[in-house]
Amino acid sequence: MKDTILVTGVDSKFFLMACLLYQSIKPTSAAENFFVLDFGLKEEEKSFFRSKGILVDAPGAIGDPHPWALKAMLHDYVANLQPSSNIIWIDSDILVNGNFGTALRGLLDEMANGQVAVAASPEMKTGDFVSRFSNLNIWPFIRALTERKLPLDADYYNSGFVIFRSVAFLKAWRDLAKATPFHALFDQNIFNLVVQGGVRILSLPRRVWNFHASDFDEEFSGEEPMVLHVTSHRPEHYKVHACGFTGAQNDCYELRLLNARHFLDYQFQVLEKFVSSEKAALCASGLLPPDLPEGKFFVEWNIPGDQSCPCQSGKPYADCHAA
Ligand SMILES: [Zn+2]
Repeated sequence: MKDTILVTGVDSKFFLMACLLYQSIKPTSAAENFFVLDFGLKEEEKSFFRSKGILVDAPGAIGDPHPWALKAMLHDYVANLQPSSNIIWIDSDILVNGNFGTALRGLLDEMANGQVAVAASPEMKTGDFVSRFSNLNIWPFIRALTERKLPLDADYYNSGFVIFRSVAFLKAWRDLAKATPFHALFDQNIFNLVVQGGVRILSLPRRVWNFHASDFDEEFSGEEPMVLHVTSHRPEHYKVHACGFTGAQNDCYELRLLNARHFLDYQFQVLEKFVSSEKAALCASGLLPPDLPEGKFFVEWNIPGDQSCPCQSGKPYADCHAA
């Protein structure tokens, strides 16, 4: 897919999630131009992505900004990559389906024909977003909505998977972010303000292009989503597990595992492929000990062996993925 770059950004805490995204993209045609932006990775983690030729260093010193703030700087991160018609942002807590590349090609062609600047999935109405998340600090967003007299019945979009066909949009996102105080869901709120400023946006069906949150409420049936987004504001949809690589007891990654069995199985399928295919590269990057035994499942949960395995096999952890 020569005319398209696909990027995620990740800090050290989410490194393992980004590895799973990478693993899910590998068999698709989107793998050719996939990049990982450094949002605060450790040297060994950077070295792993660099060895794959997919690391994009931060455009300046990161300091300690939140990933939400760095994401809105997407324009500056991709400035040194090859110019592309399509710049696609994909959150690191996403897995794609094996048919993602093919489906994406059709979507990109449709956008080009319709001269659409940006595409994303609607989350809810803006007014519903404001009332549902009123417990969070989102006042700079509310103030901007009021000052600009923006309609509360307009769609509020999720920024986890976004296709940009306009560099001007990326610049506007960055510039407004620089001028707005940091707050909860920062990048997404700023994204929505830019959209509402009058941009031609294509609404992507979320069950296909950004399956998340309330989509997990029903037992899954039908077509597999192309983009499976492991996120929700509701705690019953996924659990956060602390995981580490063998031999690195102090390194703790946050791994989100879905409760819905159908999708959990897919997450483990991808995790197992990652473990079986990347051992050598992880050893070379210093993330795994060089003398790791063959066939060892090197992603470890810090849980007692008699506790049930996180893969929901029903077996104790010690007899399943710890073995
Ligand atoms: Zn297991």
